[in-house]
Amino acid sequence: FERIALVLGDQLNASHSWYREVDPQRLFVIMEVRQETDYATHHIQKVVGFFAAMRKFAAALTKAGHEVLYLTLDASVNQQNVCNNLTHLTSLAPKLTHIDLQQPDEYRVDAYLQAWAEHQSLTVTWHDTEHFLCERNVLSEWFPAKHNFLMESFYRRVRKLTGYLMENGKPIGGKWNFDKENRNKLPAKHEVSNTLCFAHDVSALVDMIKKSGVKTIGEINPRQFIWPITRAESRQLLEHFAQNLLPEFGRYQDAMHTDHWSLYHARLSFALNTKMISPREVVERAIRQWQQHPDTINIAQVEGFVRQIIGWREFIRAIYWHHMPGYQKLNFFDNKQPLPDFYWTGDTRMQCLASSIKQSLKYAYAHHIQRLMITGNFALLIGAAPDVVDDWYLGIYIDAIEWVELPNTRGMSQFADAGILATKPYVSSGSYINKMSNYCANCHYDVNQRTGDNACPFNSLYWNFIHQHQHQLSNNPRMALILNQWQKRTAEQQQELVQQAKLYLGSINNL
Ligand code: FAD
Ligand code: SF4
Repeated sequence: FERIALVLGDQLNASHSWYREVDPQRLFVIMEVRQETDYATHHIQKVVGFFAAMRKFAAALTKAGHEVLYLTLDASVNQQNVCNNLTHLTSLAPKLTHIDLQQPDEYRVDAYLQAWAEHQSLTVTWHDTEHFLCERNVLSEWFPAKHNFLMESFYRRVRKLTGYLMENGKPIGGKWNFDKENRNKLPAKHEVSNTLCFAHDVSALVDMIKKSGVKTIGEINPRQFIWPITRAESRQLLEHFAQNLLPEFGRYQDAMHTDHWSLYHARLSFALNTKMISPREVVERAIRQWQQHPDTINIAQVEGFVRQIIGWREFIRAIYWHHMPGYQKLNFFDNKQPLPDFYWTGDTRMQCLASSIKQSLKYAYAHHIQRLMITGNFALLIGAAPDVVDDWYLGIYIDAIEWVELPNTRGMSQFADAGILATKPYVSSGSYINKMSNYCANCHYDVNQRTGDNACPFNSLYWNFIHQHQHQLSNNPRMALILNQWQKRTAEQQQELVQQAKLYLGSINNL
């Protein structure tokens, strides 16, 4: 072979220009390595999902006539490290002159591949992944004079650039953002459409991973693996979403329910983050569905969805590349606590946490509001160390890759970046959770009590958080009202709440 082209596990983009022509002199290399299974303790479904999708991708390339080398985790020649395997391979190919690499999305992987490439006498060429709408450095390109970036300004620019939901240079419906119309609780007796789950037999893969001694968390049914592992299945899931879930997506986007683990969410993040499906394809399919069915889908529903993909997802990536590597060390509140043991079992009497964690262990999935306002909210209220919180999120979700996990966790959810991403900390007492879910109705604790034996822990922990951080938050206009409410309380009332929070913090593993 004259060329080797490396395909990473999250670069499964079948539409990439690499695959347009068959070149018998180019070898595509795909590898399963311990370096990637062990940098965090991943959910078993995450490891299986990546490997299964990589194997299917390699098989599809081979079928299309490409030359492919696939290294399984248990191959005797596997050195369990991407660069070591590449070095070994290059030493075996005397005619080799070129290495082709696609830009990794993670800083960690980018750093090790850059370092390896610098020491090669071969020609190394970097290629775009041809997946995202914006370049990595888009923020400094678009907003050169700014230090702080607003998702809303970024999103509007992407709308103008792509023309999505635009008419004569103006947003369709007269507004850029219909978020305010998208905040409903699930009504009683509301029937939610069934969600599409696949049923792959992945027993052989699970056995191999277990035999290799990879440490994982979470559950798996090896005969019914539910996630898409091919491009065709990713498109099937998109089709299911467009036809069945999109009509209610925005309306119940923030709702949570004990009986429904994914409600009207698309569950496309794994397919998107592995690049089996492209953001353009997803957004265009949703827009087409809205155009064809204006009677069942209104602009608020479709705009809410489009914003997640071309707004939030692209913005998060831009923030990551703008602020790395410093971002991964930020800890504005200097938080140091561990996460309670129940983050790994779901065994707590707090129904909101029990439900969100148990479903995460069962499906490797929780939707945005569960991640942000249940597990993330609680972690911040108890002062958990952002490193520990990051590790948990990076491990437990099937879609967790650092470029998207880190800004969402450390920034949006833990406010460890002092407001680079979020304009205020996403913390709440029990009343928000009660407003958006049926959790409190099924809980050991009483959401209406702030103090006393059965008082909802979120209530006192919330006020304790405000108390502890009032000086750090005093310059934040969005916190003024709540700080004012705290300061208006009598010293005795404040003391009672702080004492209750202390009691809970001292027995956190027994809540
Ligand atoms: P839907 O609700 O159906 O939304 C559609 C798509 O929009 C998603 O598939 C996703 O690609 C995109 N999207 C929506 N919100 C965001 C966001 N905030 N950032 C980036 N993309 C977004 N998402 C990940 O992909 N990987 C992660 O590791 C991850 N970690 C998170 C950690 C925390 C603490 C929080 C609060 C959010 C995190 N998110 C992460 C964002 C979001 O929760 C998930 O993208 C979403 O829940 C995936 O489910 P879905 O496909 O059903 O999404
Ligand atoms: Fe969660 Fe409190 Fe509601 Fe229980 S009462 S579900 S702990 S918010």
